[in-house]
Amino acid sequence: MVQKTEALFRDDAYLKTAEAQVVAINDRGILLDRTIFYATSGGQPGDTGMFERADGSRVAIAATITGETKDEIIHVPAPEQALPAVGEKLRVAVDWERRHLLMRMHSACHLLTVVCPFPITGAAVAEDDSRVDFDIPDAGFTKDDVTARLMELVRADHPIFTRLITDEELAANPSLVKSKNVRPPVGTGKIRLVCIGENASVDSQPCGGTHVKSTGEVGEIHIGKIEKKGRENRRFRIRFGPMPAN
Ligand SMILES: [Zn+2]
Repeated sequence: MVQKTEALFRDDAYLKTAEAQVVAINDRGILLDRTIFYATSGGQPGDTGMFERADGSRVAIAATITGETKDEIIHVPAPEQALPAVGEKLRVAVDWERRHLLMRMHSACHLLTVVCPFPITGAAVAEDDSRVDFDIPDAGFTKDDVTARLMELVRADHPIFTRLITDEELAANPSLVKSKNVRPPVGTGKIRLVCIGENASVDSQPCGGTHVKSTGEVGEIHIGKIEKKGRENRRFRIRFGPMPAN
C-alpha cells in the first residue's frame, strides 16, 4: 500500500524542524505522516538529518528516497540504530547547512538554463559542484561569459517563487518544459512551476525541488568547467565562490 506523505517542503523549503508521526516502517526505512525531508528526485539529492524521540534519543537519517510513487517518502536510517515504533511522535530536523547549499545550487542550475536556453539532457545537484547537460552541438560559450551572466542574475536579486498550473495550461505552453527527455507528470491536475523574477519575467519551468527565495541568496558562483560529452552535448559545471585565477 502506498503511504502518501504530506510534503511540507513543497510549500516552505525553509522549514528546518517539524513534528511528525511514524505511520509505517519497512525494509527500506521510516515513513511519516508529514515531512520536511526532500526525497532524491529530479537531480537533487535527498536530505539527511535526524529524528528526536520523546525520550530525547536520536535516530540519524542517512538518506531520503521515494517509495512506490513520488508521494511516498522514505527516511533511511543510518545503520545499527534503534528505530521508533509505528504511531510514535517525533521531532524531525534536516541537516540545514547541507540542504541550504543544495537549495542554492539547485537554484543556480535554474539560472544556468536561463543563460543557456537549450534542451536539458541531464542534471545533478551536489553541495559543492553541480552539473547541467545541454543538447547543443557547439557551446560557443566561455566559462567567463557564462559566469558573468549568471552573476548578473544573482546580483539582480530576483524573487524565486512557485505557482501551480493545470495540465491544460502546461499543454498550451510547451516551451515551459526545458528537459529534452523528461516530461513533468501530468494527470494529477496540477503542475508546480518554479518562477524567477517579478511575474516570472526571468524564467518559469516545472520543478519539484527546493529553491532559495531570491537569486541573491544563491551567492557567488562560477562555471568551473564546460565539458564536451558527445557530439551534441555540453556539460556545464557550477561551483561556489569566485572564478579561480588561472
Ligand atoms: Zn528546481
